[in-house]
Amino acid sequence: MKKMKREGILIVISGFAGTGKGTIVKELIAGHDNYALSVSMTTRNPRPGEENGVAYFFVSREEFEKTIAEDGLVEYASYCDNYYGTPKSYVEQKLQEGKDVILEIEIQGALKIKEQFPKSLLLFVVPPSAEELKRRLVGRGTETMDVVEKRMRRAAEEAQGMEQYDYIVVNDDLAKCVEQTHAIIEAAHAKPFRNAEFLDKLKTELKEMAKGE
Ligand code: ADP
Ligand code: 5GP
Repeated sequence: MKKMKREGILIVISGFAGTGKGTIVKELIAGHDNYALSVSMTTRNPRPGEENGVAYFFVSREEFEKTIAEDGLVEYASYCDNYYGTPKSYVEQKLQEGKDVILEIEIQGALKIKEQFPKSLLLFVVPPSAEELKRRLVGRGTETMDVVEKRMRRAAEEAQGMEQYDYIVVNDDLAKCVEQTHAIIEAAHAKPFRNAEFLDKLKTELKEMAKGE
């Protein structure tokens, strides 16, 4: 008997701005073919080098609100004066294909996902220290000092919600962090409730075999 195609997991990856979520997700996708990354919609301006449809779908407030009204988003939230949301169709399609769909989203959205999809897996990436977080945020060089300060204050607020996640991943050594993240996801696939169909089939076969003896 062969094991059936595995069910895709909806994975949320959150963490303070500058922790390294984007870097980790890029490495995960480059190293494994089971992942699909959801591209969010946002009203914030593109940073240098960010392409429309790759980093985000960059839209106006009007377009964003129209998408909300059309029920086109799985979740959305307001973060540092901008809207961010997860388009519905891509997530549904990729989960159906058996892919592990990654949402790189903040905590309000993460909690909405857990409510709607109780089987989702919520990971929170943390830096080794607050000092290192600020160093990375400044070092990335994509924000003004004003925005860096705003995001550091936001980190202190977001830290209050870390315990609501399923797992914490420390991003100190990048390669180790990526390996650990993948290992957590693989372990999640081994949960009995994600293999219900296979286990039922196996039980039936065992019963049949016991009868025949
Ligand atoms: P986020 O997506 O969480 O905002 P990024 O992935 O953009 O963060 O990373 C922020 C900065 O930190 C980038 O300049 C990135 O190269 C750097 N970085 C990411 N992971 C590590 C790490 N483990 N050690 C040192 N620097 C890192
Ligand atoms: P940034 O502006 O740094 O790209 O993202 C700011 C924050 O918004 C990050 O914490 C990021 O994870 C989050 N974010 C990105 N896309 C979405 C989304 O679709 N929904 C929600 N709720 N948060 C998002």
